Amino acid sequence: MRNKNITILGAGLCGLTLAYLLKKSDYQITVIEARDRLGGRILTQQTIDHTFIDLGPAWLWNQNTAILDLLNELQIPIHQQFATGNGYYQSMASQPPQLFKLPENQEPSYRIAGGTHSLIERLSEFLNTEELKLDEPVTILEEIESQIKLTTSKSTYIADLVISTIPPRLLVNNMEFTPSLPASLVDIAKETHTWMADSMKIGLSYSKPFWKENGFSGSCFSNIGPFTELYDHTNYEEDKFALAGFINDSWSQESPSHRKEMILKQLVTFLGKEALDFTSYNEQSWSQEKYTHLPYNRFLSPHKNNSHSIYNELYLNNKLFIAGTETSSQYAGYMEGAVRRAKSVFNFINNL
Ligand SMILES: Cc1cc2nc3c(=O)[nH]c(=O)nc-3n(C[C@H](O)[C@H](O)[C@H](O)COP(=O)(O)OP(=O)(O)OC[C@H]3O[C@@H](n4cnc5c(N)ncnc54)[C@H](O)[C@@H]3O)c2cc1C
Repeated sequence: MRNKNITILGAGLCGLTLAYLLKKSDYQITVIEARDRLGGRILTQQTIDHTFIDLGPAWLWNQNTAILDLLNELQIPIHQQFATGNGYYQSMASQPPQLFKLPENQEPSYRIAGGTHSLIERLSEFLNTEELKLDEPVTILEEIESQIKLTTSKSTYIADLVISTIPPRLLVNNMEFTPSLPASLVDIAKETHTWMADSMKIGLSYSKPFWKENGFSGSCFSNIGPFTELYDHTNYEEDKFALAGFINDSWSQESPSHRKEMILKQLVTFLGKEALDFTSYNEQSWSQEKYTHLPYNRFLSPHKNNSHSIYNELYLNNKLFIAGTETSSQYAGYMEGAVRRAKSVFNFINNL
């Protein structure tokens, strides 16, 4: 296998972990990514005041052993999510937010130093520019005798083995296959939920963590919205301060100016006028991202068809793997699933 070309579709966490593992073992690889940036669902925005805000995934947990091992191997530190002291919860619009004491966290969550993107940056350092093609959506996969021809928006490539890490629902809807993929696979993939693909996040940076005064943690929860959850987003070094969290996705349809106005109004209700002294405001609506989200025709329950056994098969006469977090047998949808799936595909190839 080492003298064959392995092409990975997608430079998110799964694709780049796989590339790192294969490269370390001397395989010839090419990674093709549709976006002009790395990371896929991982997106850490650097603000004008050099604060890193995670507008995609931010948290991992003790049981996420595969990603914790990877971070350890790459010498990237983690730090515990700050959630000590009081929080606010608003259950209905007619009542003000209620102060409550956060219980001691039995299941602490952790964040990655420098933001989640520091893992992506570190993984990509092992690839050279020839091995990494950005801004090239793959559109066609064609079996040609013992190989696969890939057509992208810019070029064509020949591969001996292709590993897709594109969310399965996007893979079967956005790409042409010759010969066609089995109907049983296409039917399952079309109904495979892409975790968090329709979510929305915001982050605001501040020159000081004013919310930490008077024993407040920064944790705010609301049934009303626009934001539903907000947390302290202070950095690892504790010298950059921010609040970050989730917006009810129905607000992604609103005009940006109206949305921002309503979010700030809600913030003042929770945290007082100091909340308006932010140095930057960032938001990300993932439902607007065509390389992550494809609108569902009907409601799909969260994680539907994630870890389905159909993803254990190989396709196009054993030349196509379908990977990505949604196909992982454990922790599907999460960063842990992306890393575990990369490791399991790597072990399979390495044992061929
Ligand atoms: C807002 C949000 C919050 C989250 N919070 C957490 C969290 O706190 N903890 C956690 O564990 N997980 C969280 N997640 C989930 C986590 O982001 C994912 O599990 C993980 O990033 C998935 O990695 P992946 O490589 O499998 O997929 P992706 O990151 O989706 O990568 C797939 C890649 O394929 C590319 N692609 C798509 N189409 C094509 C094409 N035609 N040609 C070439 N490339 C293509 C995409 O651009 C993308 O880069 C969150 C996700 C979001 C969106």
